[in-house]
Amino acid sequence: SRTPVTVIGLGMMGTALAEAFLKAGHRTTVWNRSADKADALVAKGAIRAATAAEAVSASPLIVVCVLDYEAAHEILGSVGGLLTGRTLVNLTNGKPEQARKAAKWAAEQGADYLDGGIMAIPQMIAGPGALLLYSGSPGAFETYRGELDVLGASQYLGEDAGLAALYDLALLSAMYGMFGGFYHAVALVGTEKVEASAFTALVIPWLQAMMASLPLQAQAMDANVHATDVSSLYINKIGFVNLIKASQEQGISTELVAPLQALVDRAVAEGYGADGLSRLAGLLKKPQ
Ligand code: NDP
Repeated sequence: SRTPVTVIGLGMMGTALAEAFLKAGHRTTVWNRSADKADALVAKGAIRAATAAEAVSASPLIVVCVLDYEAAHEILGSVGGLLTGRTLVNLTNGKPEQARKAAKWAAEQGADYLDGGIMAIPQMIAGPGALLLYSGSPGAFETYRGELDVLGASQYLGEDAGLAALYDLALLSAMYGMFGGFYHAVALVGTEKVEASAFTALVIPWLQAMMASLPLQAQAMDANVHATDVSSLYINKIGFVNLIKASQEQGISTELVAPLQALVDRAVAEGYGADGLSRLAGLLKKPQ
């Protein structure tokens, strides 16, 4: 029979996680600080725990998904002893350092610990395209791989519990960069009354075409050889001047694009004008 699972935290994401376990036929115990958020799940067959202690005691596998690590600690801090012999999977978004501290704390309680990053929105959970990143106890991942796969594709990154948070934040930064560029683009054409929906039809194939350059840029980064037959940083520096000036003349803020311009300018000032854009990632490394 299927492993009983506890889900702690029933916000938008935690609710989706609990629903997925329920649908997959797991005996699913739920707990949330505001108890009413469990009502809909209980109507669908979930078991309501009256306290966090009861929630932890109900299952060998405990999934936590709350606002932040402070909230997770507020909930679990006083019930740590009950975690002995169980597996804690923390899907709360946080920093690598917080994940490592949580792993250490869990080990002190005698619990197996996996930290996770959810690369999906709640509506994608248990569907195609949902990816969940895990790091921490290899034994926990092996034992509960089947249960975790209920939520989406599972990828294990290694024993350092901080890795999932590191990858998660890196992927988020790639996403925010793309969104930020999109927002500036919409604002820029919007100064001439172009509607976002109409312009998006041009942005999507453009970004897809540019995405195809990532593997080549990555090769250049890994080899640290940035000679280019695509476009030099110098030519991009000139392009940025036009982009910034045009934005100012059209009356929109340059706050999203100015930081990237600053980095391109620094690259040229440091003598990398003939290199390609792939040079920029390495320039973010702080000298030791
Ligand atoms: P919600 O705001 O919908 O839910 C927040 C949850 O945290 C609620 O269950 C809330 O309880 C609980 N909480 C907050 N503070 C405390 C506290 N001090 N003590 C106890 N419980 C507390 O957020 P989401 O569900 O969207 O996000 C949860 C986690 O999932 C976050 O770390 C988020 O980054 C991550 N995530 C979310 C994604 C998304 O698309 N939504 C995507 C990927 C990751 P209460 O109901 O009582 O307020």
